[in-house]
Amino acid sequence: MGVTFADLLRQGAARLFEDGLDNARGDAKLLLLAAAGFSGSDFILREHDMVSDDVRASYEAMITRRAEREPVSKILGVVEFFGRTFRTDSRALAPRQDSERLVEAALEASAGQSAGRVIDLGTGSGCLLLSFLQERPAWQGLGVDISPDALSLARENADHMSLQDRVRFLEGSWAVAQDQLAEIDLVISNPPYIPTGDLDGLDPEVRRHDPALALDGGSDGLNAYRDLLILLSERLRSGVPVLFEIGFDQAELLKSLAEGHGFAEFTVRKDFSGHNRVVGMVQQ
Ligand code: GLN
Repeated sequence: MGVTFADLLRQGAARLFEDGLDNARGDAKLLLLAAAGFSGSDFILREHDMVSDDVRASYEAMITRRAEREPVSKILGVVEFFGRTFRTDSRALAPRQDSERLVEAALEASAGQSAGRVIDLGTGSGCLLLSFLQERPAWQGLGVDISPDALSLARENADHMSLQDRVRFLEGSWAVAQDQLAEIDLVISNPPYIPTGDLDGLDPEVRRHDPALALDGGSDGLNAYRDLLILLSERLRSGVPVLFEIGFDQAELLKSLAEGHGFAEFTVRKDFSGHNRVVGMVQQ
């Protein structure tokens, strides 16, 4: 016997609700629209139509992935960030809305400088770097990541946004970019900053579906900053702004580490929940 779109929505929502998801019906609806290729208004017109076996199978596979706590964005393969659509999947950390504050800070730090070179250390999906380059059409970008998977996703995003001629990607640990740093006018970075002991307490959406490499900041969460501050203080020209995303309680710790490496002119920006999220500083 056939089922209708409305039946499938009810069944999927019930399954996600039983599995403890907060937004079971909303998630089920987004997945059903994607499986059917519908817009919201198509759904209203067609909710009592019968569903084809193909659409049903693909919807049920998506519901199973959501029940395993994969975020809707990664199931759909796309997410909106800074007003643009990025591909997202298991290859890199999912773009977070809170990280949009880092792009805003970078735009502010580069205001009045029509052309320049920006480096993104730990570029992941490329969402920070590519958003910045979209807003600053005369700038060139360099994205560094140790993960070849992340870089393959970042390259797809760059191609999709027609930015491939203004961005280069380098695979390796932080120091792979050391020879380029003297030419750089702005540094942005959202490195791994979760203390290792806190990883188990993260939401399953993050713990199971974001790469641990993008999250694990060592025993106190600050390992990446320590390495980056040494490298940057040795190689950057003076006056170059550096902007880091941080964990909600890391602003003071990072400031005092950075002071020890000769950085000054600190600024702190909050995220949409009111937590400190971005620390800016300038190489002296
Ligand atoms: N903000 C991310 C989270 O809360 C962590 C990102 C990172 O470690 N850079 O899961």
